[in-house]
Amino acid sequence: MGMQHWIVGLVLATSLAAPTVQAQRSESPPASPRIYVFDNGAITGLDPALFNFRRDELQEVDFVNASYLIVHPRGTLMFDAGAVPDSHFKGDGSAVVEGVVTATQPLLPQLAAAGYAPGDITYFALSHYHSDHTGNANAFAGATWIVQRAEREYMFADSPQGIIQPTTYDALRNATTKLLDDEDFDVFGDGTVVVMATPGHTPGHQVVAVKLANRGTVVLGGDLYHYPEERTTGRVPTFEFDVDKSRESRARIERFLAANDATLWIEHDIATHAALPKPPSYVD
Ligand SMILES: [Zn+2]
Repeated sequence: MGMQHWIVGLVLATSLAAPTVQAQRSESPPASPRIYVFDNGAITGLDPALFNFRRDELQEVDFVNASYLIVHPRGTLMFDAGAVPDSHFKGDGSAVVEGVVTATQPLLPQLAAAGYAPGDITYFALSHYHSDHTGNANAFAGATWIVQRAEREYMFADSPQGIIQPTTYDALRNATTKLLDDEDFDVFGDGTVVVMATPGHTPGHQVVAVKLANRGTVVLGGDLYHYPEERTTGRVPTFEFDVDKSRESRARIERFLAANDATLWIEHDIATHAALPKPPSYVD
């Protein structure tokens, strides 16, 4: 109880801030999948040593923070939810600074610019529970939550430790849930949108492979890697849940990418994100 009211309040508040966005889905479903890419701010001031790099070994130390909406002919999948809850924005266009995160745009107006409201979302998935990905997770508790059992258990443990903000996702506890046991899930049943289990960074980290008609297959990589240099050097961050599993998951996804001539989008990579269109434009 209270959630509906909170969402309505949030939509009203954000539409005051951005009067031109549409809150209703305006288009009929597309004939093939498309991906909308959202901007959830910047993460700055990171210490490269946390990721086992020296400054001079990285092209770019800062992160972008991103999330995605996948629209399929039979429904929608929201993947990740930013760092800063929309309710933390003042509505006057000013940036919100919380720790290492600086965000300038709330998420739901961007979703609206794509033509969707939270109530239109069929499925919701997180790459993992870290707080830079869960900011607006509560807004999607009306969707079916796709989560690995090990991740969910960690998120709802008595006193979860680490980079975690349970208040941003606690409404998921009662969401309709598709619980996965370290396994993949073909979301719409036609092989075009597949959540893939990639444990290691966290107990139940996942990525999403999307088969696009024009662009080919894209893998939304979450935090399987943070920097492109992790891919070329094989280094892993210092704070992995299980380094061996991270390496196994990376090897599995690299095989998938090669076998499917697919492209990996590293979620925090500034160059990758900058090259992608933003709503109302999309990739298909
Ligand atoms: Zn992250």
